[in-house]
Amino acid sequence: MLYYHPIYSELNLPEKHRFPISKYKKLYQRINASKFAKFIKEPEQKITADALQLCHDSNYVDAFLNGTLSEKAIKKMGFPWSEQLVQRTLISLGGGLTAAQSALEYGFGANLSGGYHHAHRDFGSGFCIFNDWAVVAATLIAHQRVERVLIFDCDVHQGDGTATIVADRDDIITCSIHCESNFPRVKPQSDLDFALPVNTQDAQYVATVREALQLAVRLYQPDIILYNAGADVYQGDELGHFSVSKQGVRARDSIVFEYAHHLNIPLAFALGGGYQRDVDRLVDIHQQTFLALFDNPAIMI
Ligand SMILES: [Zn+2]
Repeated sequence: MLYYHPIYSELNLPEKHRFPISKYKKLYQRINASKFAKFIKEPEQKITADALQLCHDSNYVDAFLNGTLSEKAIKKMGFPWSEQLVQRTLISLGGGLTAAQSALEYGFGANLSGGYHHAHRDFGSGFCIFNDWAVVAATLIAHQRVERVLIFDCDVHQGDGTATIVADRDDIITCSIHCESNFPRVKPQSDLDFALPVNTQDAQYVATVREALQLAVRLYQPDIILYNAGADVYQGDELGHFSVSKQGVRARDSIVFEYAHHLNIPLAFALGGGYQRDVDRLVDIHQQTFLALFDNPAIMI
């Protein structure tokens, strides 16, 4: 199932704010106008404070929920604090958890939000407040008889928050394929890191993703894959430095979906990053992930 909630795009941001908050709604509208509309559902749960504390410092969780973060912490997070932001965050992580539970049950799930891999244990950064896939992975291990989770991160930016949060756990594996010269400046070690140069093109990119996924699965035999399908690898992205085409994004996602399906490993994905001032063009790129999926509807059933 594909999980979407209207609150994903409901955040009052200052004019000229960098974050393309309307992209979730626009993407939802496109899928909802297609024959795949029947797969979209609303998340059935908010993430709980207890679940957040599996990966985050309790003082940080409390300060965010109660609106007592420092100015500096709010600036680093990238969004002004509001009650609306709190609700959006809790529902969005609930959507990630629901998508992963759907994957465990049916083989596949998606959250039309998420990919908050720059959220660290005790602070948010780069538009990420709580680390959805780390929290979901820890929750599945604590409550769902899952023993090992692979977080497979193809956002163009390295998954620094995920790497630090799960550094001392051998049941949550992180694999990040990213641009070597891009945010974050400091790149803490994931279990597997594939740093590619500026202007990486389709052939090298897609081959690296295939190699990385095969290696990660062979080495760690995960019970589920939590995938960050960042659209900021696209050549027209304003915060990415790769030269990957629209077709390259779709090819990458086909490889990931088909490989997991072929090996019978449940897979859930999050949208991840994607930054273009022209939001319709940006949604064209995020939509490639869904086209890769709809090319092979057997994956979803
Ligand atoms: Zn990114």
